[in-house]
Amino acid sequence: MAQYAKPLARLVGELERLPGIGPKSAQRMAFHLLRIPTEEARRLADAIIEVKERIHFCRQCFNLTDGDLCELCRDPRRDPSVICVVAEPRDLLAMERTNEYRGSYHVLQGVISPQEGILPDMLRVKELLARLSTPGVTEVIVATNPTVEGEATALYLARLIKPLGLRVTRLAHGLPAGGELDYADQATLISALNWRREM
Ligand SMILES: [Zn+2]
Repeated sequence: MAQYAKPLARLVGELERLPGIGPKSAQRMAFHLLRIPTEEARRLADAIIEVKERIHFCRQCFNLTDGDLCELCRDPRRDPSVICVVAEPRDLLAMERTNEYRGSYHVLQGVISPQEGILPDMLRVKELLARLSTPGVTEVIVATNPTVEGEATALYLARLIKPLGLRVTRLAHGLPAGGELDYADQATLISALNWRREM
């Protein structure tokens, strides 16, 4: 059977390792890269190397940044008394897209998952507790996903934080905006009922 020339096989092999990329997509991408001008390919390669060399975690909130502190931690208009705890940097970006939240963040870098061997001491929990021990913080909003792991992580954090005398809140979850009761699945409806609020 005919094989790709070694450098091409190597590229296909590397691309296949990327999340969500199967052998077919890897081949398509490799042939695309073969066709584009060398300059364009170099820009892509440089961009990959640049994020590897320059992006690291914010010293305070563990968001991704190319500085010592991230843009949000450096912003004096953000309220440091409220800390929103998220699992991943992409969740932080989702919260920011609301344009509603003006507090600060803490990125856990994952959720507790015994099945995947992710234990609390592998997350940025210690660092969160250290931040909470500095005066000025009054509320922690736990914004982990409403999945089994996200809920377990939220409960774990609430148990640690409440004794510190801080307000611990959880993002409400339930019916989607514009949704209809009739179409909601049972778990969503139960959660909407549990998280109901006064009118
Ligand atoms: Zn930060």
